Formats: sequence, structure tokens, C-alpha cells
Amino acid sequence: MISKTAPLSYAAATPGEEAFFRALQARVQTEIQRSTRAGTLFYHWFRAVLYLGLYWGIWWALSFHGSSFGASTALALCLAMGFVGTGVALNLGHESTHGVFGPKPLNRFILWLGFSSIGIDAWIWESGHLESHHRYVNLEGRDIGTDGGKLLRLTRHQAPSKFQRYQHLYGPWIYFIYTINWLLVRDFKIYAHGSQAGSVVKKTPLRLLNLIAVKAVYFILTLWIPYRYSGFGFAEILTGWVAMHFVISLYTAVSLFTSHINARVSFPRGSSGTLSVSWIRQQLSSTFDIHPTSTFLNFIWGGFNAHAIHHLFPQASSHLYPRLSQILREETQKHGMPYHWGSLFEATKLHLQHLKELGANP
Ligand SMILES: [Zn+2]
Repeated sequence: MISKTAPLSYAAATPGEEAFFRALQARVQTEIQRSTRAGTLFYHWFRAVLYLGLYWGIWWALSFHGSSFGASTALALCLAMGFVGTGVALNLGHESTHGVFGPKPLNRFILWLGFSSIGIDAWIWESGHLESHHRYVNLEGRDIGTDGGKLLRLTRHQAPSKFQRYQHLYGPWIYFIYTINWLLVRDFKIYAHGSQAGSVVKKTPLRLLNLIAVKAVYFILTLWIPYRYSGFGFAEILTGWVAMHFVISLYTAVSLFTSHINARVSFPRGSSGTLSVSWIRQQLSSTFDIHPTSTFLNFIWGGFNAHAIHHLFPQASSHLYPRLSQILREETQKHGMPYHWGSLFEATKLHLQHLKELGANP
């Protein structure tokens, strides 16, 4: 049985790893100094306003003018709302977790707004992301991202079940309801438990009120108001809502799983004591980048495609990721360090291969 709370530390970096990180850090600092604070803030605020505007704009159009579109156009708008809704969570919610929007209170508000917009509890996400995922990336038992529940075996150290031999076949279908489960079950379960993968989740009356109020307001906004004012029947509204969540679920699952869970990356056991791997090497060997030097993909995806540089420098602005990823590629080659990157197709294939291997070889 793996301990999720025992003291755990990374191995000291080897002289070679230290030399790599020093060289990388120096070049990253130069790039950061070359960018202006005003330019960085403009990039994040422009993207935030664009995504929020699109998301709540589509919601307003569907809620108050829904029937004028016709059923198929309304359904297409629900799918589009799912796409930009995920963008709101990634570009506002995730980015503000790392403080890119200026003063701290503003970041706290953007974090809350980003996740509340899709009905997710921002504070539970924040503690899981910073204290579990970033601190112990891909360490089984310590990183909430490696917890696939009973249905999915995501690391070799997790106890296998017979039916998981089919997980590469049914896994992708589960991804279509990933955030529906998160919205209706996962947040409440984590709050009740008071921790996620060993990291503490604060339980206060205010946090509990936020958890319940965010869900209640979300359902009022996305189900009751469209039902009351759009002219569509409840079955049609529910169909549109589920379709929207299919997109949010799949997009979120693809973002989280392709960047860390696949057959090429590593999953050390996060039990206790000192790991055999250093922090620097673990960030690189546990992460898969998807076209990380693409400026367009970086803008759309909130930098999620350049995940290695994000784990090494979580406070760096994502508008620098394409350039920083190019530097990372050069420095890893120069110093013989691991760096995994490829296309979305490759990442998906490697993820399914990982599910198949873990399902078939307990
Ligand atoms: Zn992050």
C-alpha cells in the first residue's frame, strides 16, 4: 500500500543535470527580460476577454434567442460553447493558478471565474494542481493526475483489475463524460474526503458554500435560464447541455492525458524517502509536448501543448512558450537530457498504447 503523506523528496541533481538547468535558466531569463510586462499582461487579458466574451456571448444568444436559430444551429452553438468553455478553464483558470494576470487578488478572482464558468470548484482544482500535480508530477499516489479511479489503470503501481484489459477500448468513451463526473461527483467526493492524492483540501464553511453555490448557479444559468427564455423544451436544452459537456470533457481529458499519461513518459513510485530521480529530470521525463513551438496552438490551448517548459518554469508567461520550447529542445539535445514531443496524433496513439499495455500486463 502506497503512503500518500509520508515525507518524500527528489534525488539531488547530478552535475550534468545542474549544468543543463543552469544553461537553460540563463537563456529563459534572457527571453523573459526581453519581453515587456505590459505586453505579457496584454496577451493574457486579450485572450481572457476573448474567451469569456465568446463563451458568455454564445450562452446569451442561445438563452434569449435560441429558438430563432433552429435546432441544428443551436446544437452547433452548444458544441462551440463547449470548445470555448474549455478555453475559459485553461486560459483563465489554469493560467491564473500560476499568477499571470497581475496582482494576487485579481488572479484569485480570475481563477474563481475561469473554473466557476464551467461549474468546477476553483479552490479544489488549485490545491490539486499546485500541491499534488506540480509538486509530484507523475509520481503514482502523489499526483492526482495519475488517479484514474477504479475504471482506469494509469500507472504500473496501481492494482490491476481484469476488466481493465479493455481500458484502451472503453477509456476514450469515458473521456466524453469526464467533466460531467467532475461537476456532479468528483468535487463533492474530494471535499468530503478533505484531501486529494495526499494533498490537503481546506474545509471551511465559506469553501463549502462556494462549492454548493457555484454548482447551483451554474445549473440555473446553463439549464433553467435557457429553458425559461429560449423557447426550446427541456429535453432539447438537456441534449444541448450534454453535447456541450461532451466537448468540454473530451477537450479537458485530451489536454490532461496527452501531456502526461502515455507509453513514452515515466511514472516513478511516489511512496516515501528519496526518489531515484531528480526534480529536473522528472519534469522532462514525465511530460509530452504537442507542437510546442506553434504560436497558434499555444494561443488556443493556453500553452498546454508546451507542458515541459511549463513544469520547469510555471511562473513564465505562456506567450513565451514557443520560443522557450525551442530553447529547451536545443539545450536538452546539447546536454543529453530527455525531452518528449510530437503531434497530437502521436500523443493520442501513445496514450492508447499506454492504456493497452497497462490493461494487458498487470
Ligand atoms: Zn500548471
